[in-house]
Amino acid sequence: MTAIDYGTCNVCDKEPAVGVASSTLGPMSFAYGRECLKANAEPYGPLVTMVAMCGGRANLADWVPPIIEGSLRVAGKSMEDFDADVAQETAELQELGAL
Ligand SMILES: [Zn+2]
Repeated sequence: MTAIDYGTCNVCDKEPAVGVASSTLGPMSFAYGRECLKANAEPYGPLVTMVAMCGGRANLADWVPPIIEGSLRVAGKSMEDFDADVAQETAELQELGAL
């Protein structure tokens, strides 16, 4: 029997992925490694876009902040970095007419 190679974790881009699963961010799937699953982390870029599309952190459901915290830990980003990236993404989406 051959082990399935899921490639590298889409969250940290470092550890081997243990599988592909539906993301908590929306209708999309990513390859996750064991440590990122334990951290409840999602890929940084899609997380920024999802929060921008929701109108910022103030509009999120209660279950989202732990995902943001885990994702920032893995990405090595601060909440200030995250808010700045969400603001930039919001401006870009508005310029494209997507918001
Ligand atoms: Zn990972």
